[in-house]
Amino acid sequence: MPRLLTIIAFNNKIHSCDKTCYDATDEKCSCICSGINHGVGEVAARINIYVHYPTIVMHILRNYPDVATIKRIQTSDAKKNSKSPKRKQE
Ligand SMILES: [Zn+2]
Repeated sequence: MPRLLTIIAFNNKIHSCDKTCYDATDEKCSCICSGINHGVGEVAARINIYVHYPTIVMHILRNYPDVATIKRIQTSDAKKNSKSPKRKQE
């Protein structure tokens, strides 16, 4: 169940946009994505996070004023992390 978007508040409370949102079949949505991913499926949700990220961030900042961190899933993270060379410090 990948979390496509996660926010962590200053009190360490975590909110996520995950399968419960993008695979939802009911009409109610109270997700941090502002409902843009509600019931659209994982692939469309990943695209939405990428395309509409600035809008989603504005929604988060308006509705979660205590947000400390916003994280979004990077589709290429797994490959990058295994191959990225470490920088040499000079
Ligand atoms: Zn969502």
